[in-house]
Amino acid sequence: MNSALTIRNLRKTYKNGFQAIKGIDLEVQKGDFFALLGPNGAGKSTIIGIISSLIRKSGGEVFIFGLDIDQHFTQAKQYIGVVPQEFNFNVFEPVIEILVNQAGYFGIDRRRAFDIAEDILHRLGLWKKRRGMARELSGGMKRRLLIARALVHQPRLLILDEPTAGVDIEIRRTMWEFLQMINAEGTTIILTTHYLEEAENLCRNIAIIDDGGLIENTSMRHLLDQLHREIFIFYLKYPVAPLPELAGYEVRRIDDKTVEVVLPQEHNLNDLFGVFSQYGLQIASMKNKTNRLEETFLRLVSKNAKQENNAGPLNRL
Ligand code: ADP
Repeated sequence: MNSALTIRNLRKTYKNGFQAIKGIDLEVQKGDFFALLGPNGAGKSTIIGIISSLIRKSGGEVFIFGLDIDQHFTQAKQYIGVVPQEFNFNVFEPVIEILVNQAGYFGIDRRRAFDIAEDILHRLGLWKKRRGMARELSGGMKRRLLIARALVHQPRLLILDEPTAGVDIEIRRTMWEFLQMINAEGTTIILTTHYLEEAENLCRNIAIIDDGGLIENTSMRHLLDQLHREIFIFYLKYPVAPLPELAGYEVRRIDDKTVEVVLPQEHNLNDLFGVFSQYGLQIASMKNKTNRLEETFLRLVSKNAKQENNAGPLNRL
């Protein structure tokens, strides 16, 4: 059993009748660093809410390390640490108390909780602030406190909902390093993000959701390969049968006057036109074929471009 999270046919309809999740299947392996990527309103927080039992699902099944969350609620909850989007701790409580009390909810005695909290606070650079009230922390420190609190019962799966939203780039990088470290030590991590750069830098596998549905679930590497190519549809002047092999290109025949060609990023259209004429094929017209994955990405890219200057390969679309 290698699954940290299995979701089957997950559905959520909110009380007002809005269908936020429309039947999603998803699997995250133990030890993975997994991104749930999608534009605002895609349904990411709803999925996280359901996994962490904060939101009641309307249908489907969720298993955490093989345990059905409906049947093994308490044990499944022990396995998960959740870092929410919003600060939801008592800002008048001292940092160390927030952690120790949280550990108490999971049945960890205070002495052991102090030991665990000390270790985590050191690692997250918050040890010196342990006696101060949470309200005295900077924004970046408050985010780290959320992470510390989610880890205090030593969960096997850490789920972060937009962990670096609104966090400046330096703090974001430090958080990334920390997450990579605990992932290397064995904690499975799932994060939601609409920062392409974040998913690209951290995650090995990725699911892309939009409008409550799953658009893609693949490895980061495969996704990048897919995005770094364009698909064109060519309408030919004269029918061809059979279709000649166009050296170096992936070609699919749609009918005897229509072909689809995949253009890798390193090729340009002029080269392709050259190959067409080499084979005596005359083009009547052509169009760029976009699919739902690309459309979602274009929306993500324009959104990110407005927010900041990202420089990851995903943004070269
Ligand atoms: P994301 O986290 O990807 O931004 P959410 O899961 O927060 O998306 O929201 C998915 C959709 O569900 C959005 O259209 C949102 O407006 C809607 N939604 C979220 N919470 C509620 C709610 N309590 N009642 C009705 N609709 C909701």
